[in-house]
Amino acid sequence: MDIHLPTLTIQPDWTAESQLVKITEEFDEVREAIANHDDINVVKETLDLIQTGHTLLQIIDNSYDGHLNMTKFLVEHEAKLRRKGYMR
Ligand SMILES: [Mg+2]
Repeated sequence: MDIHLPTLTIQPDWTAESQLVKITEEFDEVREAIANHDDINVVKETLDLIQTGHTLLQIIDNSYDGHLNMTKFLVEHEAKLRRKGYMR
């Protein structure tokens, strides 16, 4: 499965702290969907959750004027997953 998420337009009042609140809200919605055995909403809310994490990365990247070198972080992330045996 390869998921490509939209890149959002970061609003001026969005901060890492406010985004963390959104992540928590979406996390709770995933938890509720799982508790209800509602797979459709598990998928929908998990996409919301991933999107909020993606947006947090955008907020952080924006604070470095887009010079955070996310590619380097993604390479390190994949290397970590390979070391753990979760990827080939
Ligand atoms: Mg949601």
